[in-house]
Amino acid sequence: IQWYPGHMAKSKKEIISNLKLVDVLYEVVDARIPVSSRNPDIDDIAKNKKRLILLNKADLADDEVTSLWIQYFKQKGIAAVKINSITGMGIKEIMDTTKQVCKEILDKKQQKGMMPRLRVMIVGVPNVGKSTLINKLIGSKRAKTGDKPGVTRALHWIKTPNFDLLDTPGILWPKFDDEKVGVMLALTGAIKDEILDIEELAIQLIEILKKYYANYLMSRYKIDKIIEDNFEILKEIGRKRSCLISGGEVDTLKASQILIEEFRSGKLGRISLERP
Ligand code: GDP
Repeated sequence: IQWYPGHMAKSKKEIISNLKLVDVLYEVVDARIPVSSRNPDIDDIAKNKKRLILLNKADLADDEVTSLWIQYFKQKGIAAVKINSITGMGIKEIMDTTKQVCKEILDKKQQKGMMPRLRVMIVGVPNVGKSTLINKLIGSKRAKTGDKPGVTRALHWIKTPNFDLLDTPGILWPKFDDEKVGVMLALTGAIKDEILDIEELAIQLIEILKKYYANYLMSRYKIDKIIEDNFEILKEIGRKRSCLISGGEVDTLKASQILIEEFRSGKLGRISLERP
């Protein structure tokens, strides 16, 4: 999607006004990049609201690092739960944690003789899996995939067995002014490849892999030794995958595409690009 200042302002206004209608907010982030896939504005917007951070796509992330993130957010006073929106892994934990976080609200509702049901809204930047999660929570294909930031739609409440969910997620914009964030979002496929140089992305990925996942790199591409020069590593990956152009030179563009695809799909292993 293309973001314009007008979209952002409208989207923010919409989130703020919808926030008044709910008891608790689910902020969905990509577990592989919990910093780059967040918009820190939400900390301010949701200051007085109960909130859970949902570390989605946990199936693709490094489990040990995901645990560190859960601790990290806990120290900041925000409950975090790891989930896989496709399989539904973690949904029960969302329910349990929500009940803990909202205990006071639920008690109050009960005292007033009201149904102890909570109203929930989902927010997050594009591609973190908001629509997939909504579909999983409601068990049908109601939420529209594809984003239209700042386009106001009629609000619908969907009854799930445990709470009422606002069917339209709040769409936050990423922090594109930060170059590193752009790289992380592009690597995970959240923004279009055309925007960034694919070889440069591959080099940045190799840099992270070398540091934390050298064994994956070596075993997947049968590399004997991790060398200093990232571009040489890329060429070695290309050679191993027979990405050659006439004259026997390595097609580094092709090698970059292979590496990035194998990272995104999880073939390279469960990898987290950011750690606390
Ligand atoms: P939205 O833009 O936040 O609504 O994101 P979508 O729900 O459209 O999901 C973006 C992409 O991520 C889709 O291709 C989903 O299939 C994929 N996806 C969503 N959740 C998960 C997950 O937990 N694990 C994996 N592996 N992929 C996911």
